[in-house]
Amino acid sequence: MSEIPKQCDVVVIGGGPAGSLAATYLSQKRYDVVLLERQKHPRPHVGENIIPHFWKYCDLAEVSEKILAEGFVQKAGGMVAWNGTVRRMSFKDFGYSRPALHVERDRFDQILLENAGDRGVQVFEQVSVLGVDFGNEGETQSVIYRQGNDKTEGRISCRFVVDASGQNAVIARQLGIRVVDESFRFMSLWGYFKNSKYIGFDGQAYSHEKALDCPPMTFQSAIPNCGDWGWSWHIPLRETTSVGLILPIQIMKTAKPARESWESYFLRKCYEVPILNRLLEEAQFCPGSFAKIQDYSYRLTQVAGTGFFLIGDAAGFIDPIFSIGVPLGMYSAYIASWAIDRCLKNPGSLTQNQAFFTSQLRGRYELSRSLALPGCEAIDPTSDRAKTAIQFTKPSERELMGVVSTMTTRSENFRDLIGTLPKPNVTVSKYKIIDEILFN
Ligand SMILES: Cc1cc2nc3c(=O)[nH]c(=O)nc-3n(C[C@H](O)[C@H](O)[C@H](O)COP(=O)(O)OP(=O)(O)OC[C@H]3O[C@@H](n4cnc5c(N)ncnc54)[C@H](O)[C@@H]3O)c2cc1C
Repeated sequence: MSEIPKQCDVVVIGGGPAGSLAATYLSQKRYDVVLLERQKHPRPHVGENIIPHFWKYCDLAEVSEKILAEGFVQKAGGMVAWNGTVRRMSFKDFGYSRPALHVERDRFDQILLENAGDRGVQVFEQVSVLGVDFGNEGETQSVIYRQGNDKTEGRISCRFVVDASGQNAVIARQLGIRVVDESFRFMSLWGYFKNSKYIGFDGQAYSHEKALDCPPMTFQSAIPNCGDWGWSWHIPLRETTSVGLILPIQIMKTAKPARESWESYFLRKCYEVPILNRLLEEAQFCPGSFAKIQDYSYRLTQVAGTGFFLIGDAAGFIDPIFSIGVPLGMYSAYIASWAIDRCLKNPGSLTQNQAFFTSQLRGRYELSRSLALPGCEAIDPTSDRAKTAIQFTKPSERELMGVVSTMTTRSENFRDLIGTLPKPNVTVSKYKIIDEILFN
């Protein structure tokens, strides 16, 4: 392996989807980019449901063909069971000709990272960034890292640092600008099953081996007795099915007996969710696959500053209910690379470009936040940002969001927002409501 250089134009922290794409875009613009990733890919990661918006960012990074060639499961749409009603939708009805995917994130993220290397990024894995010494405006930044088990610290100086370190949010933690979102104090538990049945677009249950020929739906369900907040996911992958639960931390901690392990609590709860129970009837849990995370929803008081841009989850994360984490990370990668290119070409434009980046990112995050909040939180002081962000979306995307907002009781706030805009042209055929799942 070559040595980490002492200097470059841009250092990217983290090789998840956001970091790999930001590094690729900057390298395509002929900047000297170094990406430092703490782990060795392929590494496990939650978040396998990828909505089709991601393709445009992968096209720009020239990686779409590799993703298609991998043969990930192509999904038929989404199905949601909430408060006794089951609703389903398909992206095709909104003009998306390319498929949404169910991906094994270890492999998906590895493809993006390898592509970054192929496009000229100097990628170093098993290198953990410890922090950044920021210079004054116009000066360089010094990124401090530790490689593998090496006890000594190394340094690399650069003009800009892009922090894409995900939930670890290296720079935000260093600067103390990470604020937990009190409206979203959740815990998520998940694991993987073999031989789970899945639901096709016709509402029929299929055995897992058909998933590549007969596209599955991503199935989400409210968890009984958790009001608007608790829900579960069921995402068929090529070999296994990802199943997860999301519950408010308070409910989770009080409902689990002290002596019960989190894993056994997770398995018990899965079988309490009616349709999930039937899908998992003959499934086997994959030992060692259980994982959990809590308090993953937070905002940042700042997403760009002298010498840095924060992207992906490192710039904030709201809630996975609408599966927009990965595309949002990719979008922020694109905007950051655009802004950095302009700043490097014209250092006098720094403030202006950082302000533009900030407003775009904040708008998108507030928009996704408003989509995930139940009605009780409708008056959100930040809704103006979300309104502005909506103006940047295409009518078909707005229409899609309008429909998605009717699938659960988590989006009244969002419906208030689009109420001020032209009404989406939603017809019943675009989101067919069915009364029951038609098991074979
Ligand atoms: C429970 C749950 C379910 C989700 N489900 C979905 C879903 O279905 N669909 C979806 O689109 N999104 C989903 N998400 C969100 C999605 O996983 C994230 O938004 C997405 O992974 C963000 O990508 P990223 O590149 O910003 O960060 P990550 O993918 O987390 O990548 C960050 C990288 O930085 C590296 N790193 C961390 N610290 C350091 C360091 N100090 N030095 C060097 N490298 C470092 C990590 O090893 C990692 O590889 C879900 C999130 C949660 C919590």
